[in-house]
Amino acid sequence: PFVAAKLHHGTTGMVTGGAAADPAVCTRSVGSILQGRVIDYDAADEQAEDAFFVADLGEIQRQHAQWNKLLPRVEPFYAVKCNPNKMVLKTLASLGTGFDCASKGEIQMALDQGMDASKIIYANPCKQISHIRFAANAGVRMMTFDNADELRKIKMCHPSALMVLRILTDDSRSICKLGTKFGASMSAVPHLLATARSLDMEVIGISFHVGSGCFDASAFGEAVALARKAFDHGTAHGYTFRLLDVGGGFPGNNASGVGFQEIAAILGPAIDHHFGPEVRVIAEPGRYYVSSAFTLAVNVIARRVVSRDAMVPATAAVTDTTAPSRDDHPSYMYYVNDGMYGSFNCLTFDHAVVTPQVLARGGQFAHKQYGQDVEFPCSVWGPTCDSIDCIGKNFSLPEMNVGDWLHFDNMGAYTMCAASEFNGFKKSAIVYTNTEAFPGH
Ligand code: PLP
Repeated sequence: PFVAAKLHHGTTGMVTGGAAADPAVCTRSVGSILQGRVIDYDAADEQAEDAFFVADLGEIQRQHAQWNKLLPRVEPFYAVKCNPNKMVLKTLASLGTGFDCASKGEIQMALDQGMDASKIIYANPCKQISHIRFAANAGVRMMTFDNADELRKIKMCHPSALMVLRILTDDSRSICKLGTKFGASMSAVPHLLATARSLDMEVIGISFHVGSGCFDASAFGEAVALARKAFDHGTAHGYTFRLLDVGGGFPGNNASGVGFQEIAAILGPAIDHHFGPEVRVIAEPGRYYVSSAFTLAVNVIARRVVSRDAMVPATAAVTDTTAPSRDDHPSYMYYVNDGMYGSFNCLTFDHAVVTPQVLARGGQFAHKQYGQDVEFPCSVWGPTCDSIDCIGKNFSLPEMNVGDWLHFDNMGAYTMCAASEFNGFKKSAIVYTNTEAFPGH
């Protein structure tokens, strides 16, 4: 029989709502769903061994409550790109967030959730003309720009747009640097504002993005000070700016080096210091809302035992009697059923670091069982035929057998949104729960 690991995914009991009323959403704890699915599964069910996500919509609600508590002045506009899952969007829409959309498709997704066009910011500084037209027809007026050509395009097909100038700030303290692609330098700001004036475009404020995966809270404080300077340029050009957009980059879990609390403690006072209450402040958090809400369970579909001796160079002198011998414990290569071409594309695109944890071991193929407390070096590979499809080469896990399960926490951001079905492997399905609906469950 399987031996399931102890999982800690509790509830705190707070707000209810969101997609909770949806019949597809249960109210069990994440741990009990994971274990129930891998232990009591029906062996005749062809999908029983497929990898799957458990999405806890309650976690999104808790993140929102924390946002409101620590950054009450800042209205979150969720960055749809990060995870455009319908249940996520539905939950956030019912919590009252706005949406940051990067394309016609994302604007449509937001509208499909009943989002009012005034609560959408089209926050892609370089837009396709047909997508701008779509935004105009849908009544989406707020949009960012960082170059003069964009202003001319928008003047032509959406003259009543409310423009937000995205400035370049220091992104050196973020994992995904966005400044190489977007953002007007401060020296370009006067010229851009003069161009906007000459085109009779309405510029309503300034945005910035410190980079995705920001690990230094002071980057936000410095960016707000720079935005203040850009506001002053606006005044010099006859504009009265009324919007500050502090972008994304807020961490989604505690593994990021800097906590949301630390960022809020710097950002909130910086905003109040530089901007009066007449300025509306919004943000574009993505990973903050969804990272910790998704847990991924994968099945060990194959393994290869690698004797330790194979790793010792053949030429190594055999003088060291403590060197590993053929009888020493081996290392393992585990092959699991989601990988780099699927949910783990985050390893490449998002520079993510993931950690496998044992979910259940001792399944039907168990033949040589070491205890849970003995760990071995191992690598974990995705299911495709490509050797780049590797989740990690230097993990340490108890011995896993074919049919056993691993799980990965914090898998909600920039994962399934960019997953492919390369080699015919389907994207991992999602089981939904709302741990806020029944506190203490
Ligand atoms: N806003 C814009 C314009 C972005 O490009 C991104 C991410 O790339 C985000 C918001 C969300 O960033 P994060 O998920 O780090 O909060």
